[in-house]
Amino acid sequence: MHGSAASGAPFRVGGVVPFSTTDWPGRLAAVVFAQGCPWRCGYCHNPHLIPAQGTDERDWSGVLDWLRTRSGLLEAVVFSGGEPTAQPALADALRDVRALGFATGVHTAGIYPRRLPRLLPQLDWVGLDIKATSAAYPRVTNVAGSGLGAFVALALLQQSGVAHEVRTTVHFALTPPDVLESLARDLALAGVRDWVLQPFRTQGCADVALNAAAPHGTTIDEALLGRLRAHVPGVVVRG
Ligand code: SF4
Repeated sequence: MHGSAASGAPFRVGGVVPFSTTDWPGRLAAVVFAQGCPWRCGYCHNPHLIPAQGTDERDWSGVLDWLRTRSGLLEAVVFSGGEPTAQPALADALRDVRALGFATGVHTAGIYPRRLPRLLPQLDWVGLDIKATSAAYPRVTNVAGSGLGAFVALALLQQSGVAHEVRTTVHFALTPPDVLESLARDLALAGVRDWVLQPFRTQGCADVALNAAAPHGTTIDEALLGRLRAHVPGVVVRG
């Protein structure tokens, strides 16, 4: 029996991408999408993964059986979502994946920082979303108090020594330039030197108003980048 099945509910999978070179930059990875997320970000690209139970879930043991056939063909498995750390079964799922010889990565919004000390030893890479300044989080996530944990998660990640990337999705209705500049200051104070900005794209977004406000996506100009780089020198835009 797989570890995740032995100690409780197995990891709930809302989908799988068999091959990606972008979800863990520089690695050939499969992407396993966690079902469920407690936040309600307007710009979410995977709103069908927000409900705790999905309509098209994959069985975790079946995903593992498939991953066995990928041995030698893929380097890594990245857990994305949804919010992978929302599921207690993630730790066992990471162990299952490492036991097959794959490196492990996760995309997380840092929603559950107290779970990270248990998870980080099982991870080779983390893509951490820092969505806004702490005060501006509820505007992005539609959840009160959601800004409390992400910077704690960042500090834990930095202390762990696990390779990671800090990313922010940019839609100017949610993260206008003044918020981004404040965030750049906060990140610099936290010791962040490299920062990936992901311009909003309409693809997958179910929020009509956000799509209408940026029908061709968000454009981040050089003047703004210059102001952000005054605080965090390694800002890149990943289109
Ligand atoms: S935290 Fe991520 S998965 Fe959850 S609603 Fe926001 S964008 Fe979607």
